[in-house]
Amino acid sequence: MRKKQYAVIGIGRFGESLIRELVRMGHEVLAIDTDESRVQDIADIATQAVQADSMDDKVLRALDITSFDAVIVAIGEDIEASILTSLTLKDMGVRKTIAKAQNHMHGKVLAKIGVDIVVHPERDMAIRLARTLVSNSIIEHIDLSADYGIWELVTPRTLVGKNLQNSGLRPKLGINILAIKTGDSIEVSPPPEHLINKDDILVVIGPTRSLEKLNEMD
Ligand code: ATP
Repeated sequence: MRKKQYAVIGIGRFGESLIRELVRMGHEVLAIDTDESRVQDIADIATQAVQADSMDDKVLRALDITSFDAVIVAIGEDIEASILTSLTLKDMGVRKTIAKAQNHMHGKVLAKIGVDIVVHPERDMAIRLARTLVSNSIIEHIDLSADYGIWELVTPRTLVGKNLQNSGLRPKLGINILAIKTGDSIEVSPPPEHLINKDDILVVIGPTRSLEKLNEMD
């Protein structure tokens, strides 16, 4: 894996965790914050830590911010600073911008500005937790968009003994099975005649509403 260069602006709980993980994975991270004590705290972990105001485009230029693979705006509370920083980064032509939204409206503004990825950590984590709590079958899930996802779940009883063709998943629910795990083995792109067994784990892709229906099946 190529070593990448990231800049994280705002060293709150989110920014700090992100920096730690990126460094742990072997990447270079520039950390920026207006608060000198936060910069000091991260200095030993980040590749470089700088005390600066990210709303100042001269500062960002001096740090050669456009040379980074991605810049993450992890400023939370100060929504104005988050928006102005994101706007400046987009204007400067930063390759990839990611910003943390504090609430729905903040997220909408960030998306309008053209931020490539807008994350809502508290909301998304709560949704993830709710799905895991309510379901006894979801193991993992990835949201591909607001309407589509890839879920990994335990086979519902009604599908046991059926094959992919007569399971009805594709014609009735628009769901495709990407892989079936049986014990330690995995069959990727299983053929239509593949039989679904009790305790199999299904990795499926489809509309979120259909995935929810599949998850509710007994
Ligand atoms: P978390 O939940 O991650 O702690 P938070 O919502 O509490 O996030 P804040 O503490 O508001 O986030 O912001 C994160 C950091 O961003 C703070 O350390 C703050 O000093 C820094 N920050 C705010 N404005 C700027 C700015 N203009 N330039 C650089 N850093 C900034």
